[in-house]
Amino acid sequence: MKKVLKKPQSSRPEPSETANRLRFFTERKDAITETIRQLVEIESPSDHKPAVDQLGALLAGRFEKIGGHAKFHRVPNFGDHLQVDFSGARNGKPLLLLGHIDTVYPMGTLSTMPCRVADGRLWGPGTLDMKSGIALILHALEGLRTWHGDTVPRPVTVLLVTDEEVGSESSRRITESLARKSEAVLVLEPAYGLKGAVKTARKGVGEYTIKVTGKAAHSGLDFDQGESAIVEMAKQITAISKLVNLKRGLTLNVGVVSGGTRTNVIPAQATASLDVRVAQMKDAKAIDRQLRGFKPFNRKCQLEIEGAVNRPPMERSAGVAMLYKKASEISKELGWKLEEAAVGGGSDGNFTASLGIPTLDGLGGVGEGAHATHESIVTSELPRRATLLAELIERA
Ligand SMILES: [Zn+2]
Repeated sequence: MKKVLKKPQSSRPEPSETANRLRFFTERKDAITETIRQLVEIESPSDHKPAVDQLGALLAGRFEKIGGHAKFHRVPNFGDHLQVDFSGARNGKPLLLLGHIDTVYPMGTLSTMPCRVADGRLWGPGTLDMKSGIALILHALEGLRTWHGDTVPRPVTVLLVTDEEVGSESSRRITESLARKSEAVLVLEPAYGLKGAVKTARKGVGEYTIKVTGKAAHSGLDFDQGESAIVEMAKQITAISKLVNLKRGLTLNVGVVSGGTRTNVIPAQATASLDVRVAQMKDAKAIDRQLRGFKPFNRKCQLEIEGAVNRPPMERSAGVAMLYKKASEISKELGWKLEEAAVGGGSDGNFTASLGIPTLDGLGGVGEGAHATHESIVTSELPRRATLLAELIERA
């Protein structure tokens, strides 16, 4: 008979311990689902401060119950941003867990899109983006406290902002200042695809508006007296589309165009708004310079360009890759291969990553239909996501 050898001791949890933790969360799957349902049933559109504040208060209470110290950053036009600090058993910089309370759905959406369980999923507005992510934070921290004698193993700061879906204007500075003090940032935005990939790169996002002023004239009587702002805009749009470089991940989309007054008037005004996406910071600067350098083709028309790249790209830096490596080690211990993805959409992780703070995004729920009527999460994925988050908090 073979002798059974004892495994060597390691500071990291053994795979079997990781499996135990998965079992812990599997037993609590229904409780996690119930938390998500509670959060979804308090609607929280970005532009409805009282509603968002109501959800913020509920969350502050939940976090305080598990030993966090909650405080609000008051803002007049959006819900107050919620920060919760956990002191942790060991010293060192905190880990920042980042998310948002707001959703894109107007008040009353629940009446046509009720929160319900069916086909192995939880459906409803904000289930995926990103109330499941918030619930995962709550349950992962609760699990850690259970295993570490009523304390979390390291300092943790949770920041839940209220204006992410509308550009994070009022929260950006808070996010950036907390990120600068943190060891790393874990973003609980939804995972990518039904395989649950984490996001290790995100494009930067910009918005520009171009205005052309020409000269109005009667199209029958004084055709040669007019300078068409629409003809000029058409040429500008063609020039803009030539800047697209798919290989570099650089795209420009003129999504809205308006101009003119009547068919028999040479149009004096035209406006176009465009969305710009960049994979690299240097492209953001270059594209800004190029757009601002645009000149009118018709010298009798005037051109005005406004805008900026307001979310820098999240590039896959060494720090990002290191966090992904840790996450994929954890997934391996659970017999699962965690994939990574580069995506076109931005999040608050773009701000923290571009400051050089290691950031891993897409750690939240697994599902489909963010911002759409079929928004839902796969509930059987919740235990695995909670285990991954808890282990990452310990090891990152
Ligand atoms: Zn989101």
